[in-house]
Amino acid sequence: MLSVGLTGGIGSGKSTVADRLVSHGATLVDSDRLAREVVAGGTEGLAAVVDTFGDAVLDDRGELDRAALAALVFGDDGARRRLEGIVHPLVRRRAAALAAEAGDEAIVVNDIPLLTEIGTAPTFDLVVVVETPERQRLDRLAARGMDRDAATARMAAQAGDDRRRAIADVLIDNSGDLAQVHRAVDALWHDRLVPFADNKRNRTP
Ligand code: ATP
Repeated sequence: MLSVGLTGGIGSGKSTVADRLVSHGATLVDSDRLAREVVAGGTEGLAAVVDTFGDAVLDDRGELDRAALAALVFGDDGARRRLEGIVHPLVRRRAAALAAEAGDEAIVVNDIPLLTEIGTAPTFDLVVVVETPERQRLDRLAARGMDRDAATARMAAQAGDDRRRAIADVLIDNSGDLAQVHRAVDALWHDRLVPFADNKRNRTP
């Protein structure tokens, strides 16, 4: 199994790249989705969050009240780290189980928006970073209906391009049109990922 980490700033085109890789046969593991699943109603993750932050993070149906939790950790690094200490290991465990299910032949793409900030890049065979100039990201997010100020604030809270580039094995430039980024992803798949996965399988006894 080949394990790929995929990251990029907000609105850079991670989903666009991930979807194209899936069309070639990659297995996608979406870390944002897993982060929601591991604290869904009735999970051990939610129980741990309630143990740490109290009943105030539950809504009246016993589900996680995301806004209440966000308000509790906003601007409080210690609280944010405690929350991450619960959620990240559960996400990693679930991601590992999904990768194992996908099997030896699989090329597994882990879409992790905050890979640079979390710092788990060395656990992947290859890290792919999608890069798009900030102004274009804002335009594309606005076209998708996102408020420009909210998008700017999210960007300011994320690592900058330099830090992301430092963990990249492969950079995908998404400053062109969709046809261009699709061609770049097709080349990544055929020229790097498939040969890398074949080599790795042949080396493994
Ligand atoms: P988020 O950080 O919000 O999860 P993302 O990094 O996954 O975003 P996408 O959702 O793939 O990014 O792209 C952001 C928006 O820009 C989408 O509406 C997408 O359709 C559009 N987009 C992506 N790449 C291009 C491109 N090359 N040309 C035009 N639009 C694009």
